[in-house]
Amino acid sequence: MNEQSQATPAAACSEDKPIVVETRDLTRVYGDGGQVRALDGVNFSVRAGEFVAIVGPSGSGKSTLLNLLGALDRPTSGEVIINGQALSKVRNLDRLRSHAVGFVFQMHNLIPTLTAAENVEVPLQETMWNPLARRRRAAELLDVVGLTSRRNYLPGQMSGGERQRVAIARALANRPALVLADEPTGNLDTQNTADIMRLLQEINTRQGATIIAVTHNHEVASATGRIITLRDGRIQSDVAVTSAFDRDLIDFKESPLGRAIVEGAPLPPEYQRLGEALREALRRV
Ligand code: ADP
Repeated sequence: MNEQSQATPAAACSEDKPIVVETRDLTRVYGDGGQVRALDGVNFSVRAGEFVAIVGPSGSGKSTLLNLLGALDRPTSGEVIINGQALSKVRNLDRLRSHAVGFVFQMHNLIPTLTAAENVEVPLQETMWNPLARRRRAAELLDVVGLTSRRNYLPGQMSGGERQRVAIARALANRPALVLADEPTGNLDTQNTADIMRLLQEINTRQGATIIAVTHNHEVASATGRIITLRDGRIQSDVAVTSAFDRDLIDFKESPLGRAIVEGAPLPPEYQRLGEALREALRRV
């Protein structure tokens, strides 16, 4: 059991790679009187090639964090640093968003009147002046996501899974330093969820894309390499997923029984020893 259960502190992983994004005491308070501390002093960094899941209960600050990472919102205090650039010092945030960050967000939906290929070309219009080069790049990206045969389809003619693939291709268009995904499998069935996760894993490993995805789905989270759990606007845990055992432990930790054990619920005498060992393991992941 010990052999398999080596959850590594996330910071210990891939230390040779450059840091792509970093937060320093990131805080976002909503409301004039400072009523809601949606994020409260969040510190973490993500290195090139990492695939990170942000999880946590509803209202824990996940969307707020993703919006700040993507420069769609400004912090009340603290800083986001992307590729060494502090966002508070960046003059042209539009340019940074279109060049350095790829979004797979519900609110950045596909344009319904454009074909799959044309949707992928949209972000290229700011970076590639040659229409032929844009078309070639869009074709290449649709090939990466397995949609070459759908290139001339409108979003309304495609399934939810296919539309999400187009959104992923579009997010990768400008080879961003960072891909941010908000519930990338949110509206999909089990099969499509598995397919999209496989695609994101492939993009992460083969193309070396750095991905941060917010998700409610624990299976999705445990398919990534690292899970940051938020609670009440703070980081509750930040662990690298190094084994299938860890993945199952992380899933179990979020179940009602797992949560009760972590929070110190009394254990029935016949489970005392097992329960204590489990509690220790769950607190570690
Ligand atoms: P999550 O994505 O984890 O569900 P959010 O980041 O959406 O969490 O929200 C964190 C907290 O901030 C919640 O208490 C939420 O009600 C509050 N909040 C989010 N956006 C706003 C806003 N625009 N105005 C006021 N409060 C907000």
